[in-house]
Amino acid sequence: MPQPRADLSLRKGYHSPQVPVDVRLNTNESPFPPPEGWSDALAEEVRHTSFNRYPDRSAYALREALGELHGVRPEQVFAANGSNEVLQSLFLAYGGPGRKAALWEPTYALHSHIAHLTGTQVVAGRRGPGFSLGADDALELVEREQPSIVLLCSPNNPTGRAEDPSTVSAALSASGALVVVDEAYGQFSSWSALGLVGDGVPLVVVRTFSKTWSMAALRLGYLVGPSEVVRALERVALPYHLDSLKQAAGRLALKFTAEMERRVSAIVAERERLADELSHMAVELWPSQANFLLLRPLRRSGSEVWQGLVERSVLVRDTSSWPGLEGCLRVTVGLPKENDRFLAALSEVLA
Ligand SMILES: *Cc1c(COP(=O)(O)O)cnc(C)c1O
Repeated sequence: MPQPRADLSLRKGYHSPQVPVDVRLNTNESPFPPPEGWSDALAEEVRHTSFNRYPDRSAYALREALGELHGVRPEQVFAANGSNEVLQSLFLAYGGPGRKAALWEPTYALHSHIAHLTGTQVVAGRRGPGFSLGADDALELVEREQPSIVLLCSPNNPTGRAEDPSTVSAALSASGALVVVDEAYGQFSSWSALGLVGDGVPLVVVRTFSKTWSMAALRLGYLVGPSEVVRALERVALPYHLDSLKQAAGRLALKFTAEMERRVSAIVAERERLADELSHMAVELWPSQANFLLLRPLRRSGSEVWQGLVERSVLVRDTSSWPGLEGCLRVTVGLPKENDRFLAALSEVLA
């Protein structure tokens, strides 16, 4: 058989093990289904879609609706199949052989994964105490390495901490790099880089329908940024990459922002309750601005605790082998009763 690219053998695929359990708190999805009114509107849309025709290649109506949501022009919005495809498009357009992407570990593993797949060299710094990334540390790496892409993640997955606004500004002022702020969890946070976006500013903010919008199955993500960046991304996107139904689904979802905001508040309240309960247990815990918490059991190894939770039918993410996260686990905030199951199981395992 023909052999695939030799460098692929160095890389494992990216996936989270799925084990059949009662309580799944491992992939940061929303525990709530999407609003019923949205499902009804989408069903109606199915009847009126011309499936014999190619979709609107520019996804204009969707981009117009997203632009309205964020107070930008449709030309400043690029949408794709999940924010992961948005990131891949960014790497295809701005990365590639001979170019570098800067990021700071620990962070979202898919950033360096996509960099490698697109032949982009990764230059990785380390986050400091409490997983903070100071403006000076960020500047130092960017000035030394002169990357084409600077990747920030705010709030950062899997640590939960939002990037410091001064770090984003420093990265913007530093170089000719395109600064990418991945805000997959942006709505759970008290700060967003969206306010800094504008034509002529080398910044894009990436968002997704997968987390806050309760629509992980839809595979829809987008970025807001300068129109010249959007034009470059359109050159690397496959023709008709966004199907008609997905375009409609995303556009219809934006009619339910109030429901979405209620879901966000409910999850933030549960996050605070969970953090409070965990602070009385034998774990180290980091403050989170997202819909998950990172913790480190004090007297047991991370994978031992992960296994003990699985035996009690609770699945969390075992991050204990990730760079800089020795012994850590990441737990997604679920429904109150799921969080209670997690807390009960954890206290048994730690006892
Ligand atoms: C979950 C997540 C995404 C989402 O990817 P989609 O392809 O939109 O589902 C993007 N970035 C980060 C940091 C994430 O944690």
